[in-house]
Amino acid sequence: MKTATTTTFTPAHTVTTVCPLDCPDSCSLDVTVQDGRITAIDGSEANPVTAGYICAKVRRFADRVYGADRLLYPAVRKGPKGAGSFARVSWDEALELVAERMLEARDRWGGEAILPYSYGGSNGLLTQDTSDATLFRRLGASRLARTVCAAPTGAANMALYGKMASVSYEDVPDARLIVLWGVNPSTSGIHLVPYIKEARQRGARLIVVDPRTTPLARQADIHLPVRPGTDLPVALAIHRYLFEEGGADAAFLAAQTRGAERLRERAQPWTFERAAAEAGIDAGALRAAAEAYATTSPALIRCGWGQERNRNGGSASMAILALPAVAGKFGVRGGGYTMSNSASWGIARTWIGSHEPPTRVVNMNQLGRALESSDPPVAVLFVYNSNLAATTPHQRKVLDGLARDDLFTVVFEQVMTDTARYADVLLPATTFLEAYEIARAYGPFSLRLGKPVVEPAGEARSNAEVFGELLQRVGLWRDGDPTGELEEMLDVLARLPDPIGPDLRERGVATPPHGGRPVQFQDVWPLTPDRKVDLFSEALDAEAAAGLYTYQPDPSTPEFPLALITPASERTISSTLAELPRPEVRLLMHPGDAAARGLAEGDAVRVFNPLGEVRCPVSVGRWIRPGTVSLPKGLWRKHTANGYTANALCPDTLTDLGGGACFNDARVQVERISS
Ligand code: SF4
Repeated sequence: MKTATTTTFTPAHTVTTVCPLDCPDSCSLDVTVQDGRITAIDGSEANPVTAGYICAKVRRFADRVYGADRLLYPAVRKGPKGAGSFARVSWDEALELVAERMLEARDRWGGEAILPYSYGGSNGLLTQDTSDATLFRRLGASRLARTVCAAPTGAANMALYGKMASVSYEDVPDARLIVLWGVNPSTSGIHLVPYIKEARQRGARLIVVDPRTTPLARQADIHLPVRPGTDLPVALAIHRYLFEEGGADAAFLAAQTRGAERLRERAQPWTFERAAAEAGIDAGALRAAAEAYATTSPALIRCGWGQERNRNGGSASMAILALPAVAGKFGVRGGGYTMSNSASWGIARTWIGSHEPPTRVVNMNQLGRALESSDPPVAVLFVYNSNLAATTPHQRKVLDGLARDDLFTVVFEQVMTDTARYADVLLPATTFLEAYEIARAYGPFSLRLGKPVVEPAGEARSNAEVFGELLQRVGLWRDGDPTGELEEMLDVLARLPDPIGPDLRERGVATPPHGGRPVQFQDVWPLTPDRKVDLFSEALDAEAAAGLYTYQPDPSTPEFPLALITPASERTISSTLAELPRPEVRLLMHPGDAAARGLAEGDAVRVFNPLGEVRCPVSVGRWIRPGTVSLPKGLWRKHTANGYTANALCPDTLTDLGGGACFNDARVQVERISS
């Protein structure tokens, strides 16, 4: 059932909706529609934080909706796996085949032979963990640990503060010192930038910790271009300074925290000199950053995700997030920290599959290993909201797994992605402009209802429709289960806590928690069991193989000395929209590293390590630190000369906490490709 608001041959009109893509901001959108087609996408003023402007990525989202790569019909594979050759079938045929193969797999090996794989294609509450979870849990399928992003920071934030609500974008201008750590708002979460600029105009100082000279790093008072993976010793050196030289807030530590002495012990070895040597930065600049932080209030840390994507990522995030507690930066507007605010709404979603017994858990970062496993084998892989062939570490192992003859792969997608090319059955999915969604921001406090603005292209269907119908076809539908998209949306709204559900139903927007601008330790408090900040979680100390706050050395070798990073770009949201044209992709390298290898701008190079190889031109510039090279996040195979992306070079090892991805632990060598 579809309830779009437009019909053909209508005059141009504007529909206000919301962007649910995997970006912190969740902009309100004004979408212009004429004759049933999207003609423009712009910012709406409905959300005061996103304030009428949006990124260039989503401005061109209509090119995805109507582009040549859009999947319009269900199809079955007719060529070799990966060739992208398909024959059109009806929805009835496609869904019957999928249901039949899932039941066959369950009967032969048990439900765990079915692996659903999804992540972040939409960040909303409707397209993931609703009827999809009901289907797979009732089948007894393997469960996916969705850890590719934010798992280490989430574990750190939960242990320290119980995911306490953090500082709103609107309160950033009140800060007198802003620390941007592992985050580049000029590319992701762009609506934070004007608030930082306003703070700067009012005299705030800015510190940026990032291996690259990002636009805001260029303007910073202090830029610490740390070697990837060394954020932990840098943060611990600041803790050491606070404890040893008097910047620690003894009264706050005594009243509001526990574990401070254990943190102090682990920070003790990290002098400025030692940490700076490990991070490849200037010890004087590190001391200056610590002194500025200790002596300035309100001081705000915007903690991102760049520091989490390595072997030390959990402890690094924890050490960074612990700084405002040790330095006593809470209790004032504009002071404290800001991280993901999505948990602030108190939406636990405990209704999903809570009656089904637990099953095997597969860490999504180790998909290649799972596809090699035989205990039981993954016989059916059902991919939705994800382009795993492009986004998962150890790409070669993943592609080898997808090519298995005995693997039945279903891909439910909007466009012909790298993953879709490996499908046995291809199911066309609606975009967020063709379906309902409940979009929850993880930067600002925003929760809004998105609605379809046009009819689905071709025969595309929403997740609710497809998973609901599969539930029926495998004989697991039960009385009371929602039928179709509208019912699913109403069902979720009815389960949301008051007043969120009624607000969304009646006004399309929920009232922000804590007044939308909470002051930490004044309006909101840690949600830990004793309401204190746990600076040294014993559970996390046990989880981290080397121990909490314990640095694991750089994995580079003389053969592979360069750290490869894959930061977000201005072209894609993760890998979404990568089907659209973009400038040639180049490896970014510091001039010193290029000269040492005899490389010049535009040279064709191979970037390689024992896991794989990427071939592309090189770009030489000082906006990346020596010893580090960079390729954009979210590339597709077509973007490089040999059909592999940076993930072909990334290990499938896990972070110390949270089971996160270690993308930034890739160590590589680069050499010219001789013509
Ligand atoms: S991707 Fe982010 S900045 Fe772009 S429209 Fe969506 S929420 Fe706004």
